[in-house]
Amino acid sequence: MKKAFFDLLPPASVAFVVLFWAMVPTWFVEKPWSLVLVSSAVAVFVQCLELIHERHAGWRINKRELFTDIFYVIFGATVIQWLTTNLADDPLAAVKKSLGIETQWAMHLPFLLQVMLVVLLVEFGQYWMHRLMHNQSFFWSTHAPHHHITQLNAMKGYVGNPLELFLISLSVISLFDLPQAAVFAALNVIGIVAVFAHANVRSDPPRWYSFFFTTIRHHSLHHTALSYEDTRCNYGCAIILFDRILGTFREGESEIVGQGERVRLSVREQFLFPLRPLIAMINARRETAETA
Ligand SMILES: [Zn+2]
Ligand SMILES: [Zn+2]
Repeated sequence: MKKAFFDLLPPASVAFVVLFWAMVPTWFVEKPWSLVLVSSAVAVFVQCLELIHERHAGWRINKRELFTDIFYVIFGATVIQWLTTNLADDPLAAVKKSLGIETQWAMHLPFLLQVMLVVLLVEFGQYWMHRLMHNQSFFWSTHAPHHHITQLNAMKGYVGNPLELFLISLSVISLFDLPQAAVFAALNVIGIVAVFAHANVRSDPPRWYSFFFTTIRHHSLHHTALSYEDTRCNYGCAIILFDRILGTFREGESEIVGQGERVRLSVREQFLFPLRPLIAMINARRETAETA
C-alpha cells in the first residue's frame, strides 16, 4: 500500500499541477511570485517525503547539504531568473514583435496541448544543451559542478555553476503566443519531474510514466560516479522520451554518484569551476616569477 502510494506520487503530482494551473484564477497567475511560490512548495513537499521514505541512507539530507540547496533555489529564483528574463526571454520577445511573428493558433489550442507544447519545446532545447555539455570541454566545465554533487536530494537539480544554470534555462517559448497559465503549468511540470528525478525518495513510478518522464532511476545513472563516460546518457531532465528516440537512453540506476574522487565542491568552487585552467595558469606564472 505504502509502495503503491509513493510509486504513484510523481504521476499524481504532474496531474495535480496541470489541473491547478488550469483552474487557478487569473489574478494569481499574474502575480510575479506565483510560479516561484508553487515551485518552492513542490520542492518543500518532496524534500519532506525524503524524511519519511528515503531511497538510500547515504543520500540522507544534512544541514550543510540543505543550506547549500536552499541557497541555489533562492539564487535560481532571483539572479538566474533575472538574467534569463533580461538577457534572453525579453530580447527574444522583442525580435518576435519586430519581425511580426504571430502564433495565434497556439492561443486556441486546448490547455493540455498548450502545456504539452511548452514542455516538449523547453525540454527539446534542454536535451541538446545538456548533451552539448557532455560533449564539449568548455560546456562540460560549466556543467561539471552539478555532477560533483555526491548525493541526490529534492533540490539538487537547482545546484550548479551560474553559467550552466543560465544556459540550461534558455528556451524559445517567448516566440510563441501562449496563455501565461499554460506556460507556468508546463514549467511546473518540468520542475516537479526534475525534483522527483533528483530526490532521495523510494518511488519507482509505473512504466507508462517512466517511458515518457525521467525518474530517479534514469537520472541517478546519469549522475553515476563510475566514470565520466558512463554519465553520457539519459540527458532528458524531465522528458526521457528524447533519449529513447535519439539513442542516448540507458536503463539502470546508480547509488554512488559524483565525479572523479567524489570530492564535494563548496559553493565558491562551484562558481569558479570553469575558471580553473585560468587560475592554474596565473598561479603557475606567479610561481615562475617568484623563483626567477
Ligand atoms: Zn549531466
Ligand atoms: Zn542532475
